[in-house]
Amino acid sequence: MTTPHGKVKTILIVEDNPTNMKLVGDLLELNGFDVVRAVDGKSTLEILKRVKPDLILLDINLPRMSGIDLFGKIRENQSFDSVIVLALTALAMKEDKDAIMNAGFDGYIAKPIDTREFIKLIKAKLSLVPADSEV
Ligand code: MN
Repeated sequence: MTTPHGKVKTILIVEDNPTNMKLVGDLLELNGFDVVRAVDGKSTLEILKRVKPDLILLDINLPRMSGIDLFGKIRENQSFDSVIVLALTALAMKEDKDAIMNAGFDGYIAKPIDTREFIKLIKAKLSLVPADSEV
């Protein structure tokens, strides 16, 4: 997926479940995105020293460091202020969604994902299509 200037958008997926990682990664690559993958908070912070993604898909239920704690660490770095961060989570309870949105995430995607809606949402968040769908 490219902008009018031709730059490919980079998406970092942080997901510890290999099945979900494969599904989401393959889907984004098929849609032309440049995909970078991380399986936990530590590897994410290492990757972010050399890669500046346009968007991060962040699983909330991660080993050792939760997605919410990791999000806090990402936002501590002002150079990532413009990076769109979406929570990716199987948590379906309203309280959990509230906690995620209160933490300041730019959106919320529930697993299992609806592949068509998922791509529409990603493109909308990256302003590649009009924002006609919302999380
Ligand atoms: Mn997980």
